Amino acid sequence: MNDMAEAPKPLPACPICGKPQVKKLAPFCSSRCSKIDLGRWLNESYVIEGSDSPSAEDLEDQ
Ligand SMILES: [Zn+2]
Repeated sequence: MNDMAEAPKPLPACPICGKPQVKKLAPFCSSRCSKIDLGRWLNESYVIEGSDSPSAEDLEDQ
C-alpha cells in the first residue's frame, strides 16, 4: 500500500486574488493574476511616458 504518498502541502495563497497558487505560476494562481501583479508593479514603480522601445536602437547597433 502507498501510505507514504506525497502529503498535500497547502500552497500559499495568490497575492492577487487569494486563491491557492499554482506551482507552475507561483506565486500566482493564474497567468492572469501574474499579469495583474505585473501591471500593478509597473504602475507603482514606473511612470511610463512615451512607451517607445529603446531596444530597437540597440538592435541596430549589433
Ligand atoms: Zn490569483
